Amino acid sequence: MGKKWGHYAVGGRSQPVTCIYCGRLTPRVKAIPVRKGSWLDTKVIPGLDRRKVFIPSRKAYACISCAKHRGLL
Ligand SMILES: [Zn+2]
Repeated sequence: MGKKWGHYAVGGRSQPVTCIYCGRLTPRVKAIPVRKGSWLDTKVIPGLDRRKVFIPSRKAYACISCAKHRGLL
C-alpha cells in the first residue's frame, strides 16, 4: 500500500482556462480550443475587410457546454 503521490496534478500542467463565452474557469484538459479573431473581430468591427487587415488569431478556450451549444465539438 504505497502512497499515491502525484495523482492530482496541482499547479502543474492543468491550469484552468477561462471560457470566452461564459467566463467560467475550466480545466484545460476539458476546455475546447477556439481560434479567436476569425469570427469575433468581424462582429466587433462591422464592415471590416479581413483580406486587407491582418487579424492575429489568438488562442482561446471554451468550456464544454458552450462548445456544444455553439457546435464547436
Ligand atoms: Zn462556457
